[in-house]
Amino acid sequence: MKGQAGAGGRLGGPRDLPPGRPPGADPQQIQFADDMQEFTKFPTKTGRRSLSRSISQSSTDSYSSAASYTDSSDDEVSPREKQQTNSKGSSNFCVKNIKQAEFGRREIEIAEQDMSALISLRKRAQGEKPLAGAKIVGCTHITAQTAVLIETLCALGAQCRWSACNIYSTQNEVAAALAEAGVAVFAWKGESEDDFWWCIDRCVNMDGWQANMILDDGGDLTHWVYKKYPNVFKKIRGIVEESVTGVHRLYQLSKAGKLCVPAMNVNDSVTKQKFDNLYCCRESILDGLKRTTDVMFGGKQVVVCGYGEVGKGCCAALKALGAIVYITEIDPICALQACMDGFRVVKLNEVIRQVDVVITCTGNKNVVTREHLDRMKNSCIVCNMGHSNTEIDVTSLRTPELTWERVRSQVDHVIWPDGKRVVLLAEGRLLNLSCSTVPTFVLSITATTQALALIELYNAPEGRYKQDVYLLPKKMDEYVASLHLPSFDAHLTELTDDQAKYLGLNKNGPFKPNYYRY
Ligand code: NAD
Repeated sequence: MKGQAGAGGRLGGPRDLPPGRPPGADPQQIQFADDMQEFTKFPTKTGRRSLSRSISQSSTDSYSSAASYTDSSDDEVSPREKQQTNSKGSSNFCVKNIKQAEFGRREIEIAEQDMSALISLRKRAQGEKPLAGAKIVGCTHITAQTAVLIETLCALGAQCRWSACNIYSTQNEVAAALAEAGVAVFAWKGESEDDFWWCIDRCVNMDGWQANMILDDGGDLTHWVYKKYPNVFKKIRGIVEESVTGVHRLYQLSKAGKLCVPAMNVNDSVTKQKFDNLYCCRESILDGLKRTTDVMFGGKQVVVCGYGEVGKGCCAALKALGAIVYITEIDPICALQACMDGFRVVKLNEVIRQVDVVITCTGNKNVVTREHLDRMKNSCIVCNMGHSNTEIDVTSLRTPELTWERVRSQVDHVIWPDGKRVVLLAEGRLLNLSCSTVPTFVLSITATTQALALIELYNAPEGRYKQDVYLLPKKMDEYVASLHLPSFDAHLTELTDDQAKYLGLNKNGPFKPNYYRY
């Protein structure tokens, strides 16, 4: 079964590295050696190609949706020690086992089925090759869905060298399929910390090949280039960053005046925010809960903490299955929305003794405290869909009087002295990303956005983007959405000239001002 409990998730780059990372490799903070000062004075671009037609008229962390089928424990030899070549004789890669390539290819083909927008972008721009000459160094989860992205970039003319942004999330067979197809991929599931940086280094540091674009997820690659190979930035035309953490680092760099190339914040594009948070969580909350607990939702009392995008998605799914849903909120606007959607807005204390399931999705910390946990009824399920592992005070449960029993992968029973059990999922980390898969279609939206951001930065005329962090232009957000409409056979209404004039809009968009909230 694909993506069973324990699947690699949107674990977010280095956050899953074991402690003891090398000095200067702190994921949370980019350190600037004095010699970095000079980066900022490098020219950022040379000549630029014109924008590709289709686009010129007009970016929590990221996902890995599936576990690897293949177990990395089957072979104890480190991929770094192996001599492997693909069927064309190339050894320009380092993966667990190149012989898994055929299996990985089938995985990629399955992913392609629900990534038709990306495939259609591939077909539309294949002739034009808007990424011809682009040398993209990438660091993302390496899954079937990312493989579709990488192969799209190659089809559009780019050369790619790729490493994994997370030591657990690589699908080994997919990495093998990419290597077999000629992509220089350096990644396997269960890398050590040293392997992690070695793989990144092998992508950047290559005789006769120098990257001119960066696609990053978490900021480690960007950090490595800044730290080790600052001269590479002389040729880099832009950075496309996917994750909350990576984007945060870029803004730090920009604020410090040390960002020396334009960067695109893909994380905050409308298409990512709306679809990731609301629709992805609407689908995956039930999946994560079912796989771990086999719970039936009809008639169950559930309290959802936070009625933002993630909370709205979770509540919609739970309500549809007949659960009785309570909401906690701090914001009166979101609380009113919850009321209007037919939910009871309560304080957690008011319902904590009676509920069967507690779900946090606030992005806040200590929303569920030890006091709440003490008052829960027997068999209450507690899980988190929000930020990292801060929302539930799991640390407070590590006390001598409580017994922890691992009953399944990602499922702990925490047992009180009187025999009461609380069912804690994924130790308070993100449930859907730890215990289920993420819909491929959502990943398609993100991947399409990344591809367009690369095309835009690579082809932008001199001066369009400075050494700063940019959001994807609205027009491109709309383009990403429009590429996904044919999957639903959706037919857009076109503005008449008269209507366009009346609304003061260009018939081809953008259709909303930047402040529009959707
Ligand atoms: P959001 O800001 O839209 O919603 C969070 C809501 O929680 C807000 O309405 C806020 O008022 C409320 N809140 C804050 N503190 C609270 C408290 N103590 N009690 C009750 N309510 C409180 O954010 P979002 O887009 O819904 O994302 C929420 C979290 O989920 C973020 O940390 C985000 O990174 C994460 N996220 C998870 C996934 C996933 O797949 N699991 C996907 C996207 C985002």
